Amino acid sequence: MRVRVNKEKCRGCKICIRVCPSRAISIGDDGKAQIGSQCVGCGSCVDLCVMSAIEEE
Ligand code: SF4
Ligand code: SF4
Repeated sequence: MRVRVNKEKCRGCKICIRVCPSRAISIGDDGKAQIGSQCVGCGSCVDLCVMSAIEEE
């Protein structure tokens, strides 16, 4: 699974950072989550985000 952040929905709460097993998520200069190349596509962040801001590509 490839995932991307919908910047319109992300509120920068950082909860997804804590669940990512590969430490692929960080907060960018825009205050929104961003997915790095370490992502292994586990899908945990997609299920977790309360704003449904992380989407499967
Ligand atoms: S993607 Fe979702 S869980 Fe992650 S910072 Fe944005 S709103 Fe929070
Ligand atoms: S899909 Fe899994 S590995 Fe990729 S950013 Fe989300 S939690 Fe991290």
